[in-house]
Amino acid sequence: MTAAKSVWRFADWTLSVDTSGSGPIYAQECMTCGDESGAADESEGPDVWCLRHAGRTGHTGFRCVVTTFFRASLAGESRW
Ligand SMILES: [Zn+2]
Repeated sequence: MTAAKSVWRFADWTLSVDTSGSGPIYAQECMTCGDESGAADESEGPDVWCLRHAGRTGHTGFRCVVTTFFRASLAGESRW
């Protein structure tokens, strides 16, 4: 068995939020029944869904999942 050889050269790379495509994506999930708000590109829709869900079901605990996109780029490059 040969050991896998990997070269990690990350010193010249930087990681930053990718603003070229979609912004952050928000989704709320009920902690009681697992029902989901569906994804939205702003938090207001999922937040309103929570309030409606609480009013309809009495469930009051929610988990917000935010997906943010990142992009690695070579240091010194202004754009990828
Ligand atoms: Zn629920």
